[in-house]
Amino acid sequence: MLKEDCLFCKIIKGEIPSAKVYEDDKMLVFKDIEPKANVHLLAVPKDHFKLLSEMDGGRAELLAHMLEKIPQIAAENGCGNGFRLVINQGADAGQTVFHLHIHVLGGQELGW
Ligand code: 5GP
Ligand code: ZN
Repeated sequence: MLKEDCLFCKIIKGEIPSAKVYEDDKMLVFKDIEPKANVHLLAVPKDHFKLLSEMDGGRAELLAHMLEKIPQIAAENGCGNGFRLVINQGADAGQTVFHLHIHVLGGQELGW
């Protein structure tokens, strides 16, 4: 799929609306449209790449930035008691959107 057709790139550009909770020059965090927990946020890097397996030095730095910011963003959005991060990679994990994203799940006790 072309980057131009990527759903999350369109959300980042504001071409598709989303419920944004945080934005900086490197990342956007918005509410998942089909929440799987009381709080379900998606953190996406503004730089488009598809898979965790495409990680390189620059992208690892970007991911580190995201991981540094997420705890406070999670706490401010109802996950003060804890949260779970999930990155789906590929078909077996059920990845449906091929723009790297971190699921932030919380707002309740999470089972497996
Ligand atoms: P994946 O399964 O690829 O890891 O996760 C993709 C996530 O994107 C799913 O949890 C799905 O509910 C969410 N999603 C799909 N389309 C949209 C959309 O248009 N807006 C928002 N906010 N979330 C979406
Ligand atoms: Zn994209």
